[in-house]
Amino acid sequence: MKSNLNNLTRINIQNLSPYQSARRIGGHGDTWLNANESPMSALFKCRVESFNRYPECQPNNLISAYADYVGLFRKEILVTRGADEGIELLIKAFCEPKKDAIIYCPPTYDMYAINAKIANVKIKEIPILKNTWKIDLFNLQASLDGVKLIYICNPNNPTGNIFSKKDLIILLQVTFNRCLVVIDEAYIEFSSKDSMVSYLKEFPNLIILRTLSKAFALAGIRCGFTLANEEIINILHKVISPYPISTVVTDIAIQALEKNEIKNMQNRVIKLNKNRVWLINKLKKNNFVKKIFDSHANYILVKFYMFKRVFQHLWEKGIIIRNQDHKINLQGCLRISIGSDKECLRLIEELKNLSKI
Ligand code: PMP
Repeated sequence: MKSNLNNLTRINIQNLSPYQSARRIGGHGDTWLNANESPMSALFKCRVESFNRYPECQPNNLISAYADYVGLFRKEILVTRGADEGIELLIKAFCEPKKDAIIYCPPTYDMYAINAKIANVKIKEIPILKNTWKIDLFNLQASLDGVKLIYICNPNNPTGNIFSKKDLIILLQVTFNRCLVVIDEAYIEFSSKDSMVSYLKEFPNLIILRTLSKAFALAGIRCGFTLANEEIINILHKVISPYPISTVVTDIAIQALEKNEIKNMQNRVIKLNKNRVWLINKLKKNNFVKKIFDSHANYILVKFYMFKRVFQHLWEKGIIIRNQDHKINLQGCLRISIGSDKECLRLIEELKNLSKI
């Protein structure tokens, strides 16, 4: 019997294309520079042995460890299944389907749009200004009607830029008592002085998303944090699932937040930031490179001549990077995650080989 399950699906889901994650796109090879993961591992062993009991909904010790790391009170922190769950929970808690809207500023991380589409929440796109990558404050301010959440990715993925504190503060001021500003700081450890955490006290409409997936090298455990005032965190407690963080994840995340591991994380950041500088200097000498955008994160956005040829050649050689050509104002652009010394060298060698063909 043939069934048509599509007819049972909500209409907005019928029309939805799933997020094209690096894993979903796939590829073959040994040089994975497409998901902004850490090329170095942080090695941990789970210290828990029995798992017959459910975990705490919000693991106390983990919250305390992260509170120490960011200098906030525990009541200002929610642990989530990656920063991605934070993006989702905020829409779930604050946006009325078909009525409310979110704003985001493309080109940026796709999950803001995808979560809004899943929830059937309206979308307003206010692109960042071409080439300077500044927030278009004028248009943003004129578009606030019906908006509950504004997602700002800082450093922005995939452009790599940081937004000025001045602009972010203006944004927080003009949205005060009107809507919430969510600053996604998934990559902030690579530019830690630019964090907006210290403004949480001043602006009750500020929410910050964090993750252990990037600088902490723990993408595999799926652990993130939402930072906000107590009132917002309590609202999010209402919509989070009963046991979102497994006992194993909690145990490893707590170890990752111990003093010596934070030091290791900071050393990884220093090393990757150095590799970024090295890579940029080498890329500048390559004939295929048209423009390299300034980056404050563990990836760089590069505009290439004949970008398809570059992407395909690297793909065939097992060097997988991320195509960004389809995104607004990113024609011919590819995003390259910063890899280990060996991976950066391989990339440069293969680009040189391509020049010889
Ligand atoms: N925000 C941004 C800007 C990201 O690039 C990513 C991961 N690619 C996330 C959030 C999600 O991170 P997590 O692994 O913590 O879900």
